[in-house]
Amino acid sequence: MTEPLSSTALRSKISFVLHGVAAAPGIAIARAQLVSHATLEVAHYDIAPEQVDAELLRFDTALATVRAQFEALHERMKGNDSPAEFGAFLDVHWMILTDTHIAKDPKVAIAELRCNAEWAVTQKMNELVEQFEQFEDPYLRERAHDVVQVVERIVKALMGKPSELPLLNPNHSTALVAHDLSPADAIHFKESAFAAFVTDVGGATSHTAIVARSLGIPAVVALHNARYLLRESELLIVDGDSGLVIVNPDQHVLAEYEHKQSSHLLERKKLKRLVSTRAVTLDGTPIDLNANIELPSDIPGCLENGADGVGLFRSEFLFMHREDLPTEDEQFESYRAVVEGMQGRPVTIRTFDLGADKRMPGLGDRRSDNPALGLRAIRLCLAEPKLFMTQLRAILRASAYGRLRILIPMIANAHEITQTLGFIARAKAELVALGIPFDNDVPVGGMIEIPASVLSLSYFAERLDFLSIGTNDLIQYTLAIDRTDDAVAHMYDPLHPAVLKLIAQAIRSANKSNTPIALCGEMAGELRLTRLLLGFGLRNFSMHPAQLLTIKQRVLTSSIADCEAVANRILRTDEPDKITAALFRLNAL
Ligand code: PEP
Ligand code: MG
Repeated sequence: MTEPLSSTALRSKISFVLHGVAAAPGIAIARAQLVSHATLEVAHYDIAPEQVDAELLRFDTALATVRAQFEALHERMKGNDSPAEFGAFLDVHWMILTDTHIAKDPKVAIAELRCNAEWAVTQKMNELVEQFEQFEDPYLRERAHDVVQVVERIVKALMGKPSELPLLNPNHSTALVAHDLSPADAIHFKESAFAAFVTDVGGATSHTAIVARSLGIPAVVALHNARYLLRESELLIVDGDSGLVIVNPDQHVLAEYEHKQSSHLLERKKLKRLVSTRAVTLDGTPIDLNANIELPSDIPGCLENGADGVGLFRSEFLFMHREDLPTEDEQFESYRAVVEGMQGRPVTIRTFDLGADKRMPGLGDRRSDNPALGLRAIRLCLAEPKLFMTQLRAILRASAYGRLRILIPMIANAHEITQTLGFIARAKAELVALGIPFDNDVPVGGMIEIPASVLSLSYFAERLDFLSIGTNDLIQYTLAIDRTDDAVAHMYDPLHPAVLKLIAQAIRSANKSNTPIALCGEMAGELRLTRLLLGFGLRNFSMHPAQLLTIKQRVLTSSIADCEAVANRILRTDEPDKITAALFRLNAL
């Protein structure tokens, strides 16, 4: 008689496909490695009466670990110029940690209900969060978020988990599978070598997806239940081109994807021949192709892919995945490394765009019902003058070492430009007083990411040296679609007629006033949109380095006259089908 199959053995035979949103192109064949946030993973189990003391001790030890973490943070803060708010944030967390609701009540539950410590503390957390959320005072309501953060630390300490991501298994290629990953987690990948990543939530232009693209690893997001359905070490094909994850593929499927994977590699090899070719259209119009980066370590990728410069350095990533703030000197070294690394090519540093999905403990990390509409980007910079001045001085100091430009994120109002220019003037005066060299003519530009700024563009153009369209946010704010929310990801549409009209209008009004304008949202790296954007009059694109050569190849085979004719037709219609058909024909030329 044959033995009945265990459920694990039975499950491992099943091959199935999960459909999500393609977030970063390419194909990976890899084993799943599951991660998730500690409080989401907490299990409930009973403990025997004789284990209660040990469980109480485990809880006390975890509290002591977190206390030590806070003390270390406090020490680190003393030496640098962290803003007062950061200290206040730490004080709040300390109060929560030592409050009886967190420090004592879970112990009562462990002793009386004989449950595990993780469960006891998360139950208490849920109760507290519910109470905080009832408060009318928004400040008190926001404290619920702090409670969750503190408990997350305690649970991680209980589970023996460091706050870092897991180590790679060196024996096979690994796909990271998570319920969610913050951009801060994703930036941590830069030091690892995951073959792919897969998440339940998120959208294609979330910052987590953007980081995956910059790493050149395939990613599929918005899979809803992947973290729950997938098993540790299960074989996956992550198809970042079509947004599919194939679990336990059979031999034929595996062979097909291995073939696709090697064609991909061959294609990339061929593209490498274009590295030093100038991007010029068939009718001789030169096009600037720049790179978007998150960290100085991205520079080799820019050079290998022939970037004309850095069109967007998302400086906020220097502030993420750490518990203290980067000092002026530390920032200066990073900016200088980028400017020098680009060897005379222009580098555009965007002042930190924290807030919304890019959180940093203690800064822009308030709970807000609408974080994307809240204290984010330039609003946060202006609300944190000390922090902003530190960054501006660091950027200006780096301007003495190459061609540097300053870019202001998310401008919406004229007064934001006035205030920012005032801050820059002050930072310059401080450097002059100290005798520190900088480029006094450093250009200052603004990001066009909000419909209001397209409509007011001519006024902004008068006061700024250059502009850059951030389509990731422009789409989000035009269509009222949260770019990080998988529930509405299918409605996030770069080809929506309103979006196209706004982009075309921004380019045309900037060109009319002779103000240089670039586009640095993800649309710049989308092959099917290159000709359309050329037709709108765009001559400067900035994208993740891995896309540069593919886009260059398209530029080299495009005629501006053809692009303009179709772009004008597309702008005259509001019918999605007509837009798609016209675009298809344009790309077939
Ligand atoms: C954008 O919004 O298009 C942009 C480039 O900025 P980010 O993606 O960092 O918000
Ligand atoms: Mg943006």
